[in-house]
Amino acid sequence: KKRAYIVNKIEYSGEFFSGTRAELVAAVKQSLSEHRFQHVLRVEQAAIKLAKLNDVSTEKASIAALTHDYSKERSDSEFKETIKKYSMDPDLLNWGNFIWHGVVGAQIVSHELGITDPEILNAISRHTVGAPKMTKLDQLIYVADFVEDGRDFPDAQIARSLAYADLQAAVIFETKHTLQYLMSSNKTIYPAAIQTYNAWVAGH
Ligand code: GDP
Ligand code: FE
Ligand code: FE
Repeated sequence: KKRAYIVNKIEYSGEFFSGTRAELVAAVKQSLSEHRFQHVLRVEQAAIKLAKLNDVSTEKASIAALTHDYSKERSDSEFKETIKKYSMDPDLLNWGNFIWHGVVGAQIVSHELGITDPEILNAISRHTVGAPKMTKLDQLIYVADFVEDGRDFPDAQIARSLAYADLQAAVIFETKHTLQYLMSSNKTIYPAAIQTYNAWVAGH
Protein backbone atom coordinates (compact mmCIF):
# COMPACT_ATOMS: atom_id res chain seq x y z
CA LYS A 1 0.00 0.00 0.00
CA LYS A 2 2.75 2.41 0.98
CA ARG A 3 4.74 1.70 -2.19
CA ALA A 4 1.69 2.32 -4.38
CA TYR A 5 1.30 5.74 -2.80
CA ILE A 6 4.87 6.73 -3.58
CA VAL A 7 4.66 5.46 -7.16
CA ASN A 8 1.47 7.46 -7.55
CA LYS A 9 3.10 10.80 -6.86
CA ILE A 10 4.02 11.67 -10.43
CA GLU A 11 4.56 15.33 -11.20
CA TYR A 12 3.51 16.31 -14.72
CA SER A 13 5.72 18.70 -16.69
CA GLY A 14 2.84 20.29 -18.62
CA GLU A 15 4.35 19.14 -21.91
CA PHE A 16 1.84 16.34 -22.62
CA PHE A 17 -1.22 17.35 -20.59
CA SER A 18 -2.04 20.92 -19.61
CA GLY A 19 -3.09 20.14 -16.02
CA THR A 20 -1.87 18.18 -13.04
CA ARG A 21 -2.10 14.41 -12.64
CA ALA A 22 -4.94 14.96 -10.15
CA GLU A 23 -6.85 16.93 -12.79
CA LEU A 24 -6.37 14.17 -15.37
CA VAL A 25 -7.48 11.57 -12.81
CA ALA A 26 -10.61 13.65 -12.11
CA ALA A 27 -11.46 13.84 -15.84
CA VAL A 28 -11.03 10.09 -16.21
CA LYS A 29 -13.07 9.36 -13.08
CA GLN A 30 -15.92 11.47 -14.42
CA SER A 31 -16.05 9.55 -17.70
CA LEU A 32 -16.00 6.00 -16.28
CA SER A 33 -17.85 3.74 -13.88
CA GLU A 34 -16.09 3.26 -10.52
CA HIS A 35 -15.16 -0.31 -11.45
CA ARG A 36 -13.39 0.69 -14.67
CA PHE A 37 -11.85 3.77 -13.05
CA GLN A 38 -10.20 1.51 -10.45
CA HIS A 39 -8.89 -0.71 -13.28
CA VAL A 40 -7.37 2.37 -14.93
CA LEU A 41 -5.59 3.38 -11.70
CA ARG A 42 -4.13 -0.13 -11.39
CA VAL A 43 -2.99 -0.03 -15.02
CA GLU A 44 -1.24 3.27 -14.25
CA GLN A 45 0.64 1.68 -11.33
CA ALA A 46 1.77 -1.25 -13.48
CA ALA A 47 2.68 1.08 -16.36
CA ILE A 48 4.84 3.30 -14.14
CA LYS A 49 6.70 0.27 -12.79
CA LEU A 50 7.25 -1.03 -16.33
CA ALA A 51 8.36 2.42 -17.52
CA LYS A 52 11.03 2.56 -14.82
CA LEU A 53 12.25 -0.93 -15.71
CA ASN A 54 12.44 -0.12 -19.41
CA ASP A 55 13.76 3.46 -19.43
CA VAL A 56 10.51 4.98 -20.66
CA SER A 57 9.10 8.32 -19.48
CA THR A 58 6.99 7.66 -16.37
CA GLU A 59 4.96 10.77 -17.20
CA LYS A 60 4.00 9.43 -20.64
CA ALA A 61 3.30 6.02 -19.12
CA SER A 62 1.02 7.61 -16.51
CA ILE A 63 -0.89 9.72 -19.05
CA ALA A 64 -1.31 6.88 -21.55
CA ALA A 65 -2.41 4.45 -18.82
CA LEU A 66 -4.91 6.88 -17.28
CA THR A 67 -6.49 7.55 -20.69
CA HIS A 68 -6.24 4.12 -22.35
CA ASP A 69 -9.91 3.22 -21.62
CA TYR A 70 -11.16 6.85 -21.36
CA SER A 71 -13.83 6.37 -24.06
CA LYS A 72 -14.76 2.76 -23.26
CA GLU A 73 -18.24 3.57 -21.92
CA ARG A 74 -19.33 5.80 -24.84
CA SER A 75 -22.26 4.66 -26.97
CA ASP A 76 -21.84 2.87 -30.29
CA SER A 77 -23.51 5.80 -32.01
CA GLU A 78 -20.98 8.26 -30.58
CA PHE A 79 -18.11 6.10 -31.85
CA LYS A 80 -19.72 5.85 -35.32
CA GLU A 81 -20.22 9.61 -35.46
CA THR A 82 -16.60 10.19 -34.38
CA ILE A 83 -15.32 7.81 -37.11
CA LYS A 84 -17.24 9.82 -39.73
CA LYS A 85 -16.46 13.23 -38.25
CA TYR A 86 -12.70 12.64 -38.35
CA SER A 87 -12.78 10.69 -41.65
CA MET A 88 -11.28 7.60 -40.03
CA ASP A 89 -11.07 4.28 -41.94
CA PRO A 90 -14.73 3.44 -42.77
CA ASP A 91 -13.99 -0.27 -42.20
CA LEU A 92 -13.99 0.58 -38.48
CA LEU A 93 -17.78 0.94 -38.78
CA ASN A 94 -18.00 -2.84 -39.28
CA TRP A 95 -16.50 -3.55 -35.83
CA GLY A 96 -17.39 -2.79 -32.24
CA ASN A 97 -16.51 -1.27 -28.90
CA PHE A 98 -13.53 -3.58 -28.35
CA ILE A 99 -11.59 -1.89 -31.16
CA TRP A 100 -13.27 1.53 -31.12
CA HIS A 101 -12.39 2.39 -27.53
CA GLY A 102 -8.68 2.26 -28.43
CA VAL A 103 -8.43 3.44 -32.03
CA VAL A 104 -11.32 5.94 -31.95
CA GLY A 105 -10.70 6.51 -28.25
CA ALA A 106 -7.32 8.09 -29.08
CA GLN A 107 -9.15 10.71 -31.19
CA ILE A 108 -11.61 11.36 -28.36
CA VAL A 109 -8.76 11.75 -25.85
CA SER A 110 -6.99 14.13 -28.20
CA HIS A 111 -10.05 16.33 -28.72
CA GLU A 112 -11.51 16.27 -25.21
CA LEU A 113 -8.36 16.30 -23.11
CA GLY A 114 -6.00 18.17 -25.46
CA ILE A 115 -3.43 15.36 -25.41
CA THR A 116 -1.69 15.44 -28.80
CA ASP A 117 1.60 13.60 -28.25
CA PRO A 118 1.66 10.96 -31.04
CA GLU A 119 3.42 8.36 -28.86
CA ILE A 120 0.75 8.61 -26.16
CA LEU A 121 -2.08 8.52 -28.75
CA ASN A 122 -0.51 5.50 -30.49
CA ALA A 123 -0.23 3.66 -27.18
CA ILE A 124 -3.96 4.26 -26.56
CA SER A 125 -4.82 3.26 -30.11
CA ARG A 126 -2.80 0.01 -29.98
CA HIS A 127 -3.60 -1.09 -26.45
CA THR A 128 -6.19 -3.76 -27.31
CA VAL A 129 -4.81 -5.61 -30.34
CA GLY A 130 -1.21 -4.37 -30.47
CA ALA A 131 0.62 -3.88 -33.76
CA PRO A 132 3.52 -5.53 -35.62
CA LYS A 133 5.80 -2.69 -34.57
CA MET A 134 5.26 -1.29 -31.11
CA THR A 135 7.28 1.32 -29.24
CA LYS A 136 8.34 0.56 -25.67
CA LEU A 137 5.47 2.80 -24.52
CA ASP A 138 2.98 0.85 -26.70
CA GLN A 139 4.32 -2.40 -25.28
CA LEU A 140 4.14 -1.40 -21.67
CA ILE A 141 0.56 -0.06 -21.92
CA TYR A 142 -0.51 -3.24 -23.76
CA VAL A 143 1.13 -5.35 -21.05
CA ALA A 144 0.12 -3.22 -18.03
CA ASP A 145 -3.53 -3.55 -19.10
CA PHE A 146 -3.13 -7.34 -19.07
CA VAL A 147 -1.20 -7.76 -15.81
CA GLU A 148 -2.61 -5.02 -13.53
CA ASP A 149 -3.12 -6.31 -10.00
CA GLY A 150 -6.89 -6.81 -10.45
CA ARG A 151 -6.44 -9.38 -13.23
CA ASP A 152 -7.10 -12.87 -11.88
CA PHE A 153 -7.47 -15.10 -14.95
CA PRO A 154 -5.58 -18.42 -14.62
CA ASP A 155 -2.31 -17.26 -16.22
CA ALA A 156 -2.30 -13.74 -14.74
CA GLN A 157 0.47 -14.48 -12.25
CA ILE A 158 2.68 -15.96 -14.98
CA ALA A 159 2.05 -12.94 -17.21
CA ARG A 160 2.83 -10.58 -14.31
CA SER A 161 6.15 -12.23 -13.45
CA LEU A 162 7.10 -12.22 -17.12
CA ALA A 163 6.16 -8.55 -17.52
CA TYR A 164 8.51 -7.39 -14.78
CA ALA A 165 11.33 -9.64 -16.03
CA ASP A 166 11.11 -9.18 -19.81
CA LEU A 167 8.67 -6.75 -21.49
CA GLN A 168 8.99 -8.25 -24.98
CA ALA A 169 8.40 -11.77 -23.69
CA ALA A 170 5.26 -10.48 -21.97
CA VAL A 171 3.99 -8.95 -25.24
CA ILE A 172 4.50 -12.32 -26.95
CA PHE A 173 2.79 -14.21 -24.12
CA GLU A 174 -0.19 -11.83 -24.04
CA THR A 175 -0.64 -11.85 -27.82
CA LYS A 176 -0.71 -15.64 -27.97
CA HIS A 177 -2.91 -15.91 -24.88
CA THR A 178 -5.47 -13.41 -26.21
CA LEU A 179 -5.70 -15.08 -29.61
CA GLN A 180 -6.08 -18.51 -28.01
CA TYR A 181 -8.84 -17.15 -25.79
CA LEU A 182 -10.66 -15.51 -28.72
CA MET A 183 -10.47 -18.68 -30.81
CA SER A 184 -11.51 -20.98 -27.99
CA SER A 185 -14.63 -18.85 -27.47
CA ASN A 186 -15.39 -18.56 -31.21
CA LYS A 187 -14.98 -14.78 -31.25
CA THR A 188 -14.29 -12.76 -34.38
CA ILE A 189 -10.61 -11.88 -34.61
CA TYR A 190 -9.79 -8.36 -35.72
CA PRO A 191 -7.32 -8.55 -38.64
CA ALA A 192 -4.73 -6.36 -36.90
CA ALA A 193 -4.66 -8.85 -34.01
CA ILE A 194 -3.53 -11.52 -36.48
CA GLN A 195 -0.84 -9.19 -37.82
CA THR A 196 0.37 -8.69 -34.24
CA TYR A 197 0.40 -12.46 -33.73
CA ASN A 198 2.37 -13.04 -36.96
CA ALA A 199 4.99 -10.46 -36.07
CA TRP A 200 5.39 -11.21 -32.36
CA VAL A 201 4.50 -14.87 -31.83
CA ALA A 202 5.12 -16.64 -35.15
CA GLY A 203 8.31 -14.62 -35.65
CA HIS A 204 9.80 -15.61 -32.28
P1 GDP B 1 -10.05 -3.66 -21.32
O1 GDP B 1 -10.53 -2.53 -22.20
O2 GDP B 1 -9.27 -3.21 -20.12
O3 GDP B 1 -11.17 -4.60 -20.95
O4 GDP B 1 -9.01 -4.56 -22.20
P2 GDP B 1 -8.70 -4.57 -23.77
O5 GDP B 1 -8.83 -3.22 -24.35
O6 GDP B 1 -7.38 -5.25 -23.94
O7 GDP B 1 -9.77 -5.56 -24.39
C1 GDP B 1 -11.12 -5.23 -24.54
C2 GDP B 1 -11.90 -6.44 -25.02
O8 GDP B 1 -11.60 -6.72 -26.39
C3 GDP B 1 -11.58 -7.73 -24.26
O9 GDP B 1 -12.80 -8.35 -23.89
C4 GDP B 1 -10.84 -8.57 -25.30
O10 GDP B 1 -11.03 -9.95 -25.12
C5 GDP B 1 -11.47 -8.11 -26.58
N1 GDP B 1 -10.69 -8.32 -27.80
C6 GDP B 1 -9.37 -8.10 -27.99
N2 GDP B 1 -9.00 -8.42 -29.25
C7 GDP B 1 -10.12 -8.85 -29.87
C8 GDP B 1 -10.40 -9.35 -31.19
O11 GDP B 1 -9.56 -9.46 -32.08
N3 GDP B 1 -11.70 -9.71 -31.45
C9 GDP B 1 -12.69 -9.61 -30.50
N4 GDP B 1 -13.92 -10.00 -30.84
N5 GDP B 1 -12.47 -9.15 -29.27
C10 GDP B 1 -11.20 -8.78 -28.95
FE1 FE C 1 -9.16 -1.36 -23.24
FE1 FE D 1 -7.98 -1.50 -19.89
